[in-house]
Amino acid sequence: MAEVTQLIHDYLRHNKKFPHVFCPGCGHGIILGSLIRSVHALQLPKDDVVIVAGIGCSGRMAVYVDFNTVHTTHGRALTFATGIKMANPKLKVICVMGDGDALSIGGNHLIHAARRNIGVTALILNNYIYGMTGGQCSPATPFGDNSMTTPHGSLEQPFDTVDLVTAAGANYVARGTSFHARMLDGLIMDAIMHPGFSVVEALSPCPTQYGRKNKFKGTVSMYEWLKKNTVKLENRKEDDTRIPIGVFRNDNRPGLEERYASLKQRIMHKGQPEPKEQVSPKAE
Ligand code: SF4
Ligand code: MG
Repeated sequence: MAEVTQLIHDYLRHNKKFPHVFCPGCGHGIILGSLIRSVHALQLPKDDVVIVAGIGCSGRMAVYVDFNTVHTTHGRALTFATGIKMANPKLKVICVMGDGDALSIGGNHLIHAARRNIGVTALILNNYIYGMTGGQCSPATPFGDNSMTTPHGSLEQPFDTVDLVTAAGANYVARGTSFHARMLDGLIMDAIMHPGFSVVEALSPCPTQYGRKNKFKGTVSMYEWLKKNTVKLENRKEDDTRIPIGVFRNDNRPGLEERYASLKQRIMHKGQPEPKEQVSPKAE
C-alpha cells in the first residue's frame, strides 16, 4: 500500500494530473469530484465510508478513492451494499452504478432496495447508454435514439429513474447533472445523511460516437446540452419539457437496518409496544 501511495505522489509531483481511465469529456470525473467533496464537507471519517461499485465506466470510481471499497459483479452492487449495511449499520454505504448496471442487470435489486428502504445511498450515473462495452441501448436510452444495438432508433420507452425509485419506495430521490457540479455536491450530501434508501441520479455525458449522435447532436458541447435541457424544480413552468432536476422526494421513514434493530430489541425485551405501521409511500 505504501508503495502505491508513493507511486501516486511521484506521479502527481511530475505530471500534476491524476491518471484515470475516463475518456476526455466524460462526466464521470466531475461526479467523482462531487462525491469526494461531499464526504469531505460532511467530515466523515474515511473508515466509516464504503463505496460499493458495479461494472462499467462508473464502476471505476471505486478505484480512485481512499475509502473502504468493493468492486462487485455486474448489477449486484446493491446486494453487497445491503449486506454491508445490515452487518454494520454505522457505516455510510454508497453504491455507485451506471444506468445499465442499475436499471437493467440490477433493476430488480434497485426496486427491492427501494421497497425495503435500506439505509444505503445509490448514486446512479446516467449517460443513456452502455458506455464501456461500446454504445449498446440501455433501459435509459430515449425512444428513437441510435445505439450500437438500435442503429435505426430505439423502439422502447426508457425508464425514468426518479419515477421508478419513487414508486418503489425510496425515502430520498434527487436528480442532478455533471454540469451542475456544486448542486450535485449538495444532493449527494443530503442523500448520504438521509435515513433509508436515498437515490441521486446524475446525468452525465458519454462523448463516444452514440452520445454525440443522439442527445448532444448540434450542440457545441454536451455540457451545453445539459445546461439548456434541464430545469431546476423550483423554476419549472407547467408546460416545461426540459428535464427537471432537484429533490423529488424527501421522507424520513426509518431504514430497514433501524427497523431490524428495533425488532431485536422487542424480542429481547418482550412486552414493549408494537411499532406503528408504516404509511405506504406515494409519489409526489
Ligand atoms: Fe465516460 Fe463514455 Fe468513455 Fe465510459 S465510454 S469513460 S462513460 S466517455
Ligand atoms: Mg451508462
